[in-house]
Amino acid sequence: MRIKDLKKEKNAIILAHNYVRPEIQDIADFVGDSLELALKASKVDADLILFCGVDFMAETIAILNPSKKVLVPDIATCSLAQMLDTDSLLDYKKLYPDAKVVLYINTLAKHKIYADAICTSSNAPEIVDSMDSDKVLFGPDINLARYVANKTSKEIIPVPRYGFCSTHYQITINDLSTAVKKHPNAEIVVHPECTEDIQKKADVIASTSGIIRYCKRSNKEEFLIGTEIGLIHRLKREMPDKEFYMISKFSVCPSMKIHTLDKIERALKTEIINVTIDKNIASKAVIPIKRMIEITSN
Ligand code: SF4
Repeated sequence: MRIKDLKKEKNAIILAHNYVRPEIQDIADFVGDSLELALKASKVDADLILFCGVDFMAETIAILNPSKKVLVPDIATCSLAQMLDTDSLLDYKKLYPDAKVVLYINTLAKHKIYADAICTSSNAPEIVDSMDSDKVLFGPDINLARYVANKTSKEIIPVPRYGFCSTHYQITINDLSTAVKKHPNAEIVVHPECTEDIQKKADVIASTSGIIRYCKRSNKEEFLIGTEIGLIHRLKREMPDKEFYMISKFSVCPSMKIHTLDKIERALKTEIINVTIDKNIASKAVIPIKRMIEITSN
């Protein structure tokens, strides 16, 4: 039985992140960034949500939608989320007792419980500014931490000292120089998980959804994109008259590519790999997530 029939039979919806394989984006009911997906999930009238993305995103969807069954086609781990460990986080909290804690949505639920608020790459400066303390512990991405530090008067203390997304980290200045030589008229649009060197050379720094919005608004016709390669499919689909080039064709997140159409079909058939969160953790982790939603909707 094919995916479409299984979806109908089970009253299921497929949600996919901007970085998954193009063929999955094409059959998904909704494609977006981690927060958009979680918010979308809470508005859909479906019994079953099949989510294609990585672990922390699936957790966030499950936390915000406790009455729905959340499935994943395969276990996909975000290496950035893994860089935060509980002991370091608790040590830093002890070291800076007056600091508030803002954690990137790219963290596991077991760490979100220690945050005063969660943030995404699009709202991080706003969330940090809303904290009633001069110091903010911020993690786990050092590049996003530096980006935020440039936009706020608060002292940003990165936790851990050096967490990063390996997919964005390997986009180098050499890659950028080569790409600029090839496409001198293109605007440079990058994600804040890129290194500081790349951010400094960029025309625009934005989240995945921010990149899409910006490219739609811009009068330019060519763009050099610094993020995971999966976003190119969506950019080209939504803006067929514009040209998009990757700064590095090697910026591929292996975890995002683990999902396939075959695995989606199998997951819908068997309903295995169910995302479950310990009730105690979910009830605590939802608080800083909702705090973020509250701050950004004001
Ligand atoms: S691209 Fe980086 S931050 Fe995003 S899921 Fe992959 S490893 Fe995690």
